[in-house]
Amino acid sequence: MAGRSPLEIEVRRRIEAAGPMPVAEYMALCLFDREHGYYITRDPLGTRGDFITAPEVSQMFGELIGLWASAVWKQMGAPENVRLIELGPGRGTMMKDALRAVRIVPEFHSAIVVHLVEVSPVLQARQEATLEGCGVTVFWHTRLGEVPKGPAIIFANEFFDALPVNQAIKTDRGWHERRIQIDGNGQLAFTIAPEPLPFFQTLLPPHFSTARPGAIFEWRADTEAMEVGRRVADGRGAALVIDYGHTETGIGETFQAVGQHAYADPLSSPGELDLTAHVDFQALSRAVEAMGVKGFGPIEQSQFLRRLGIEQRAASLKTKAARPSDIDQALARLIGRERTAMGELFKVAAFVHPSIGTPPGFETSTG
Ligand code: SAH
Repeated sequence: MAGRSPLEIEVRRRIEAAGPMPVAEYMALCLFDREHGYYITRDPLGTRGDFITAPEVSQMFGELIGLWASAVWKQMGAPENVRLIELGPGRGTMMKDALRAVRIVPEFHSAIVVHLVEVSPVLQARQEATLEGCGVTVFWHTRLGEVPKGPAIIFANEFFDALPVNQAIKTDRGWHERRIQIDGNGQLAFTIAPEPLPFFQTLLPPHFSTARPGAIFEWRADTEAMEVGRRVADGRGAALVIDYGHTETGIGETFQAVGQHAYADPLSSPGELDLTAHVDFQALSRAVEAMGVKGFGPIEQSQFLRRLGIEQRAASLKTKAARPSDIDQALARLIGRERTAMGELFKVAAFVHPSIGTPPGFETSTG
């Protein structure tokens, strides 16, 4: 049939061969299929792309993250060599802005080796171009596990929301895995596994036993979060995770598709749309902290950036800007609390080795 994306053909082929496909498998294929995956084939960022992220909104974001890292490095005892690791660096903009900002702490700048963890060859090429001439050695990896061990500061902005999410749906008979099938009209459609997931209710918080039929629960594998925790523990370092999501594990569907800055049906145009789901910070923190590190937050992005001094930075940039109103707009986007802004929806969590103390921005919030 005309109009089917190459990946839709592959999804249909697999469903026809093996039966309905779990949501996480569908999401992984759509985003990361080696040939046709959304992230593998394109750079989706920016005003002309499908979505825009905080580092692409303003240089202030990466600069403040850099200064956060320089303070944490001092709290770590200023190790002579430190890995600055970023998971899913997109265009490399945040790292570039961070490295420029930390030039004011030359001992830190010269201690840094950058390690970028990126699966997309297209974005890796983009990162190479962005970071050319940054004055720091940069290595690329496809998994965090490949980065050499040692003192490390890890960043992840809008990384965890792209990791595949599982869904279960409540019926009178229990919680069933949600899957994707080809329906009677030949369309991709949601369905449920015929049998409930064994013992699923016992894995959920007790008050979820009152969830109504039709309720949806989402969860992710803990693999990446645990690896982050292990790194922070081994390297006596720190990690900063920024993403949209909720503070506590809850019921509700957040699996969504975005294309050209608008929401779309996640089952339409497989491989052509960004698929994400909100990050469950409670589950994430539990997995990271289980590796023996201390968690702080999550706090709202607006609060975090304010505490790091974004308003002062904006005021200083405005005095030099050709169009000061652009700075005001970027600031409003990053710390505003309305639905179109990032300040409230986005949360920030830090994880540190217990010897480090409280990282900047989390002074009054305990883990
Ligand atoms: N942090 C960037 C980009 C966010 S988009 C920014 O804020 O602008 C998500 C990024 O994560 C992309 O670079 C994508 O290719 C990468 N990515 C997603 N899943 C990944 C995985 N499992 N391993 C490595 N990189 C991944």
